[in-house]
Amino acid sequence: MIGRRGFVTGLGALAALPACAEDARFTVTGAMEQGSLALGQAPAGSRVALDGRPLRVTAAGRFVFGFGPNQTTAALVTVRYPDGGGDSRSFTPTKREYDIQHVNGLPQNTVTPPKEVEARIAREAETIYLARLEDTAGDGDFLSGFDWPAPGVFSGVFGSQRIDNGVAMSPHYGVDMAAPVGTPIHAPADGTVGISADYYLDGGFTLIDHGQGVSTSYLHQSQRLVKKGQKVKRGQLIGRIGQTGRATGPHLHWAMNWFQVRLDPSRSTKTPKPQPL
Ligand SMILES: [Zn+2]
Repeated sequence: MIGRRGFVTGLGALAALPACAEDARFTVTGAMEQGSLALGQAPAGSRVALDGRPLRVTAAGRFVFGFGPNQTTAALVTVRYPDGGGDSRSFTPTKREYDIQHVNGLPQNTVTPPKEVEARIAREAETIYLARLEDTAGDGDFLSGFDWPAPGVFSGVFGSQRIDNGVAMSPHYGVDMAAPVGTPIHAPADGTVGISADYYLDGGFTLIDHGQGVSTSYLHQSQRLVKKGQKVKRGQLIGRIGQTGRATGPHLHWAMNWFQVRLDPSRSTKTPKPQPL
């Protein structure tokens, strides 16, 4: 696994900890690349820090964190065991190459929105930002991997530089799955609905908080079938695919976050691809 050998020694206060990477009593697994969720396991009762800041740890010693889409620096994980000992290891994500994707035929008022909707767009972005600050315990169901929320054909990959109607936009932070309007969307893991609303750019939008800072979002829906605050179970029907907001055709834009860190959901699913249509 990339990064395992790159452990850090002599970093100020951490120098007091034994920097024994190979025999550390904790593990971090996952795709271990840019824009992916890392899953940690430490002895029950451990305390864990990421780059010096405490992380939430489950009763069973599980913890998670995300590698940013363009992160080139190492993530330093420090674990203090219940018996008083500890270990530090650093993990550097594998670099990804992102594509350039041209998208044409978008409604022009979603590429260059009119002045009068700027305040609305800003308010909606702020609501999403605030929802992604939540640090709830969750039930840890997602730790076993996510299901794909819908069938479909991959029509957009994570991280690509988007040129929409000829205008350079921010990178595409999610995966797109093209499927007919009305195709059911199911919760990919247990969670609590943090947002269910109609947004200008995102269309019919739902955010599910899975706990430990991990959330998933569902954009462009034709129907939203869950309400804010509602608990959802893995496999539960939450909405239907649509073409609302900034979209050229019916598809689900599926996004995943660890707090504000954008993640590629396809790196945390039980299977690499959704069911074909
Ligand atoms: Zn998309």
